[in-house]
Amino acid sequence: MYEGAIQDLIDELGRLPGVGPKSAQRIAFHVLSADPADVNRLAGALRKVKELVRFCTTCYNVAESDQCRICRDPRRTDEVLCVVEEPKDVVAIERTGEFRGRYHVLGGAINPLEGIGPDNLRIRELMTRLSAGTVRELILATDPNTEGEATATYLALMVKPMGISVTRLASGLPVGGDLEYADEITLGRAFEGRRAV
Ligand SMILES: [Zn+2]
Repeated sequence: MYEGAIQDLIDELGRLPGVGPKSAQRIAFHVLSADPADVNRLAGALRKVKELVRFCTTCYNVAESDQCRICRDPRRTDEVLCVVEEPKDVVAIERTGEFRGRYHVLGGAINPLEGIGPDNLRIRELMTRLSAGTVRELILATDPNTEGEATATYLALMVKPMGISVTRLASGLPVGGDLEYADEITLGRAFEGRRAV
């Protein structure tokens, strides 16, 4: 335990995901000995992300204006919509270069143990988008783990009666994993080989 500002910083860092007490202490002392210009740049980046970045009003990806770059791109098709859990999954799929449609970011997955149900996700917003009638294929690209599968199953049941073709990424993705950790080739193949559900 330290006193004052250095302990405050260790406490704040320790509240970040994936940062344990030891890492928090190491980062705090790194900041203490770092060049003031570097620390100011970090502080500025933290402030700017809260000031400038918001969620796209259409797909809920991160954006710096009302709509994200992908929703604004006129070269992409509105007929294929890919559902993912988080903005980082959009980045993972974009890296494959296999997909030219639009996205819908749910903001998580159904997880009864943590009290996350369909109402806590942007499912109502998804249904509103689908009811416009433009989407012909809905790709369920939720994570290949229990919560992601439960979410995909739930969405398939909701969407299939609307007459929209529903597909799921092909196997080959590491089961129990996170979409973002799949390499580009595996994820790209899973995309090409997606199956109707
Ligand atoms: Zn968007």
